[in-house]
Amino acid sequence: MSAPQVMGHEIAGEITDIGDGVTGWVVGDRVQVIAAIPDGTCEDCLAGHQTICPNQVSMGYQFAGGFAEYMIVPREVLRVDGLNRIPEGLGFAEASLAEPLACVLNGQELARVGEGDTVVIVGSGPIGCLHVRLARSRGAARVILIDINAQRLAQAAALVQPDLTIDSSTTDPVDAVLVATNGRGADVVITAAASGAAQEQGLRMLARRGRLSLFGGLAKDAPFITIDANLVHYRELTIVGVNGSSPAHNKQALNLIATGAVPVADLITHRLPLDRLLDAIEIVGRGEAIKVTIEP
Ligand SMILES: [Zn+2]
Repeated sequence: MSAPQVMGHEIAGEITDIGDGVTGWVVGDRVQVIAAIPDGTCEDCLAGHQTICPNQVSMGYQFAGGFAEYMIVPREVLRVDGLNRIPEGLGFAEASLAEPLACVLNGQELARVGEGDTVVIVGSGPIGCLHVRLARSRGAARVILIDINAQRLAQAAALVQPDLTIDSSTTDPVDAVLVATNGRGADVVITAAASGAAQEQGLRMLARRGRLSLFGGLAKDAPFITIDANLVHYRELTIVGVNGSSPAHNKQALNLIATGAVPVADLITHRLPLDRLLDAIEIVGRGEAIKVTIEP
């Protein structure tokens, strides 16, 4: 992040002014803004892989973000079609969740979540909740939600209704998943938590041909895990990473929210004004919320 900076990269709002030479938008348009901005011109972008653009910059990191009454949508966003019209009837708060849902969508595409799958999500924060709902909308037969914090797990489960919850502070999650699947294991495990232990356990929960999505990154100073390479080899497992989302993912995510395929309104447990931003960050830090939105 280039400091000082206005943070906030899950952004929605209304256009109040238009820059010189900008066409296709009018004052009053309601819009959602991408967070990760690919250059659109490098080899990876041209190959259709905008999420791994090596020249990627981001709202709230290199450009002033959404925790503000007014902000500028930079030309770099417009250049890659990163400004999306919010469909009629959808609120700004709900539309702002298109950005995290876009990342979740990228993750589930790469992990090939599909019809009939048993999907395990590790981590019951807002991203974990979005994973549960998206997996359902993609036809997953069974969704299992795991967290190390029993209270947070219960709060999330009450909203997103997984088929099974596992409190990994008291239960061995690998054993529990294997028991719940008659020893077969899960088709997909997604770790939506910054936990190397969860990644290691995730691999051991997989069925043959299973996919492990390392959705959550690890701390920079402890990025190493230990895995049984023979499990990967003999069981034909796939371990897949995921880095943010593309402008196209944002459009699809906004559409999934607007059509009700992935409901998000009930995941927003707190809506605070801009002058209570620090309170909002503390609420998130204490694990009391699923999703907090700032409404300047
Ligand atoms: Zn690029």
